[in-house]
Amino acid sequence: MIEGYELELYEPGCAPGASVYSARAHIDNDVSEVMPYLNAVLDRPLYGENNQFIVWEEGDRGYALRPHELAVSMILDRKQAREVLDKTIAEINDIWERRSEITPDYSKKTKPRILDILKRLPLTNCGDCGLPSCMAFAAQLAQGNRQSKDCLPLLEEESTEALRVLKEMGL
Ligand code: SF4
Repeated sequence: MIEGYELELYEPGCAPGASVYSARAHIDNDVSEVMPYLNAVLDRPLYGENNQFIVWEEGDRGYALRPHELAVSMILDRKQAREVLDKTIAEINDIWERRSEITPDYSKKTKPRILDILKRLPLTNCGDCGLPSCMAFAAQLAQGNRQSKDCLPLLEEESTEALRVLKEMGL
């Protein structure tokens, strides 16, 4: 799938002047076809329909694959950029090699907005989830740091519909 690339190291727009960089691998061929297989295999990726992009996280590092580009964040120097990009590309190529064993997932996945989550919560700010407010819990849900079952009032009968919607959102 990916054989070679041209490396670019750049300062992330969100942190100009920082001592960490982002790395970009410019890829000659179009790698869109592997995205539905990555979407099926990766943990909680964001996937744009029509193979526009797929974005995922591992540890502190973020990854974004577009048709002709793989970008990786939290990079210290060119040597590390090569190591991380080469490892990630090997993993992507492995998934492509194994595609006959994987059911591709074409469903669009985007991060739910905090307000869309918040309006499904009980809004009592009871603190049972260990957080000071439903807003704080909604933010943690959106980040994938909590699950809807961590809000005990949501498990009560009158919240069945709200819980169903949150589950549909992958929360
Ligand atoms: S347990 Fe649920 S209702 Fe209570 S503060 Fe947390 S999110 Fe809000």
